[in-house]
Amino acid sequence: MCIFCMIANKEIPSTIVYENDDVICFDDIHPAAPVHVLIVPKRHFDNIVDLSQAVDGLVSYKAVLDAIPVIADIKGTRQGFRLINNCGEDGGQTVMHVHFHLLGGRKLDEKIL
Ligand code: AMP
Ligand code: ZN
Repeated sequence: MCIFCMIANKEIPSTIVYENDDVICFDDIHPAAPVHVLIVPKRHFDNIVDLSQAVDGLVSYKAVLDAIPVIADIKGTRQGFRLINNCGEDGGQTVMHVHFHLLGGRKLDEKIL
């Protein structure tokens, strides 16, 4: 079982910020900003393409979308944050369970576009 499935199943610990039936959100173990939360559908999809192409992927995707303002409010980053998805090896994805990085808590300036 993959590491994020194990976190979702509480088989390994994480600092959970928010969860419901469909999504779990926890602090990244190597934060790249003062706020760095991973938003992870509890259901396993390898990446955002698999999520997009799943017949019933919309439930998971909507759960991710709905979690964004909840996390921003909990972490106090409603005034601005960045959401990142790395897809596949070339995209820099290292954990092959789809997830979104919510980064904030300071002015983010290291943009690539
Ligand atoms: P990515 O490179 O987009 O696949 O992101 C994977 C992220 O998962 C990295 O930022 C890691 O720091 C983070 N990560 C890996 N293992 C854990 C863990 N056990 N708890 C929290 N974050 C983790
Ligand atoms: Zn998984």
